[in-house]
Amino acid sequence: MNALGQTKRNELIGRWQEIYDLAGIAALSSWDQTTYMPPGGGPVRARQIALLERLAHERRTDSAIGRLLDDLEPYAESLPADHDDVSMVRVMRKLYERAARIPTDFAAEFAEHTANTYMVWAAARPRNDFAAVRPGLQKTLEMSRQMAEFFPGHAHIADPLIDVADEGMTVATIRPLFEELRQALAPLVATIAQRPPVENDFLYRHYPKAQQIEFGEQIIRAFGYDFKRGRQDETHHPYMTKFAHDDVRITTRIDEQDLGNALFSTMHESGHALYELGIDAAYASTPLDTGASAGVHESQSRLWENIVGRSRRFWQHYYPALRAQFPAQLADVEWDAFYHAVNRVAPSLIRTEADEVTYNLHVIIRFGLELDLLEGKLTVDELPEAWHARYVENLGLRAPDDRDGVLQDVHWYGGPIGGSFQGYTLGNIMASQFYATALASHPTIEAEIGQGRFDTLHTWLRENIYRHGSKYTAQELLARVTGKPLTIEPYLAYLRTKYSDIYGPL
Ligand code: ZN
Repeated sequence: MNALGQTKRNELIGRWQEIYDLAGIAALSSWDQTTYMPPGGGPVRARQIALLERLAHERRTDSAIGRLLDDLEPYAESLPADHDDVSMVRVMRKLYERAARIPTDFAAEFAEHTANTYMVWAAARPRNDFAAVRPGLQKTLEMSRQMAEFFPGHAHIADPLIDVADEGMTVATIRPLFEELRQALAPLVATIAQRPPVENDFLYRHYPKAQQIEFGEQIIRAFGYDFKRGRQDETHHPYMTKFAHDDVRITTRIDEQDLGNALFSTMHESGHALYELGIDAAYASTPLDTGASAGVHESQSRLWENIVGRSRRFWQHYYPALRAQFPAQLADVEWDAFYHAVNRVAPSLIRTEADEVTYNLHVIIRFGLELDLLEGKLTVDELPEAWHARYVENLGLRAPDDRDGVLQDVHWYGGPIGGSFQGYTLGNIMASQFYATALASHPTIEAEIGQGRFDTLHTWLRENIYRHGSKYTAQELLARVTGKPLTIEPYLAYLRTKYSDIYGPL
């Protein structure tokens, strides 16, 4: 059976490779669309992306894959549970069965629709023009609901959409977790608001673009991002993308009047890239050659951005280099003032620039809005005002316009409504669990960060998390690495310790 099993396994992987390559070409087309493509290319690019999605979807749902998977069951059962091929068959079956429920025409239409909506959004956001995206968003909502309905038997309409990003998570598991977190964070935010504010005006001086890019790239090189297997370009809304096992790119946006914006987004996206680049080379072009879930992915971007990149020891080491890069702008700023400034806690309007304490409130707002839209409790017309109302309720702030309100994040304009945001907060929680485990086995990690050395941490992450790709589900990985299920305690302990140091006992 094993020889036959391996033949069939190779046939399955061969079929998968075409799907993987089509997805890589589609990602390349989207990357170009969001970086260098002139606006004139938009409509045909959307059609091209739809064609690639159609071709990939036809291959994903080919009944020959179903037959191969059936044939492979006895082979998979003959292997130890931890064997790579067992995971390969499990992941392929999940992807095949999920894809098979979605008609090819629908998949292609949705890809074209979201590519077009993205272009409308990119032009509409600077103009604060919600009316321009409203029809597209309405169609996205309808198609997202349809997509969920292809999976009957769900307890909540968002569950099938959440499952695509964070397999195994549901509204029923996420809602109480987020509520517990919200109740723990609210008093922290309130207490910090009573403390003397941290000064951060100097972050908003003029910081020329070229030097910002140079400094950010210096840092991510030190993290271990390999420019022979990646590159960084500018876009509207930063992201990481993968065309192949050895071509994992990141994007950023530069604001010359805001030093923190690109700096921390570059660290963030590099964390996503380190994960993908660290997957075992033996998994290249297979279904395992991708991260375990949106939440685990976000745990890595947030770990590098915040736990490392906003830490005291990190800036003790890197501040002299930053000051050398911007001598005039930072002449009157000492390192600890800078460290405090990049950790200033204050309710704000923009999720991607939010501090670690208030960040999850931005996510919880969006998660709640997605559920209400999908449930039909909220219409697209009511969405801009609902956005403002929830910001007032949760953060005590109201954006002056839709640009920094409902138009702020790309997600609903470039993908489905549902499943897009929970991963951010799940990632914050997991990041602390993983990091506490890494520290327990390698207590020198913190001192090394203070010397600008990240190899012990990076190696630990690669050995325990990255190299496995999607061999384990997020829940399996968390249990395997930390010995515990998802729990918010390490995250709350991390926040309390760090921010007590900055703001006084919390
Ligand atoms: Zn991210």
